[in-house]
Amino acid sequence: MERIYLDHAATTPVHPKAAEAMMPYFTSVFGNPSSTHHYGRESKAALQRARRILADAVGASAEEIVLTAGGTEADNLAIMGYARNHHHLGRHIITAVTEHHGVLHACQALEKEGFSVTYLNVDSSGLIRMEELEEALRDDTILVSLMTANNETGVVQPIQAIGDRLKEHQAVFHTDAVQAVGKREIHVSDLGVDMLAASAHKFNGPNGTGFLYVRKGIQLSPLLHGGSQERKRRAGTESTALAAGMAEALRLTLEEMELKQTEQERFRRLLLTQLEHGGAEAVVNGHPEERLSNVLNISFPGANVEQLLMNLDLEGIAVSSGSACTAGSIEASHVLTAMHGDSERGRSAVRFSFGLGTTDEQINRTAETLLRVLQRMKMLN
Ligand code: PLP
Repeated sequence: MERIYLDHAATTPVHPKAAEAMMPYFTSVFGNPSSTHHYGRESKAALQRARRILADAVGASAEEIVLTAGGTEADNLAIMGYARNHHHLGRHIITAVTEHHGVLHACQALEKEGFSVTYLNVDSSGLIRMEELEEALRDDTILVSLMTANNETGVVQPIQAIGDRLKEHQAVFHTDAVQAVGKREIHVSDLGVDMLAASAHKFNGPNGTGFLYVRKGIQLSPLLHGGSQERKRRAGTESTALAAGMAEALRLTLEEMELKQTEQERFRRLLLTQLEHGGAEAVVNGHPEERLSNVLNISFPGANVEQLLMNLDLEGIAVSSGSACTAGSIEASHVLTAMHGDSERGRSAVRFSFGLGTTDEQINRTAETLLRVLQRMKMLN
């Protein structure tokens, strides 16, 4: 049985060429990039090449890129690093209820340090309302952190409009673009963002590495204390191999981005049409247009999602739920709850996410299997 992986929003396989690009830095070019001898200089040059590719990918300059151990660290560094360095300007932060926990939990930690946080709501399509942001902005707001694309629904926030609005305010704008980098055109100046987080394992790079774009002139208090790597913003010896793998993965992803978008739109249509023809009650979650192409979140009202996912897994299909299963009971995710309340819709959601290796045949088999499993579950229920 050929297994089908439709969980690319959770993590992606490393592109073979990105894996290949990393190999020399494990064996022959292994120097510490901070060493001044030949070995160190070779690694440093490779690190700089990687940094330049990452910077170009988001329209930044190389000094504005801080290498991190992934998206969570990049979000934490942006939010905690900025707030702790600028509390003299104010202690108020704005974010949204549908953010990733890498943002939400960093904000909650800051609340314990005396900051106050406004959590914006979203409408039923998953978008924040500009009026609500407007109302939330205060003279002592120092930071707004709103994600580019949501990891559960793929919904894309109006980043450019938010960036434009914040140009007239002291607050800096951080965006968690972990799901969006490599999926959409990103140019930090056009978008008006001051900080942007990315993670390699979402674009066919290795796990455990990512980066934070920090606009020139913005000071952050580091999270880690130690050496003066990354211009004193992130202590610890850089992994040249991971940086090289991440850069190559992003370069390859961007080369094919538009092609992939078209293909993924086809996958979406294919899956939805077949489910519809098969008589499944499938309700799509998230804004119909303001969204990524590769994430499709569908509710199957009345279905027991845990059972559904287990059955699909037995049939070789890996997808994920929009729910967290706690001790056998299904709890709707914080994202779907924010959009639809604590409803059946939130509890019966499945996330399909496409990526490297996804084919029409796989989508066809997924639809057939899904219909069969739904049919069987109805018979059992
Ligand atoms: N932000 C978003 C939107 C994500 O989807 C993820 C990954 O699940 C993260 C942050 C965290 O990234 P990482 O797994 O690299 O720490």
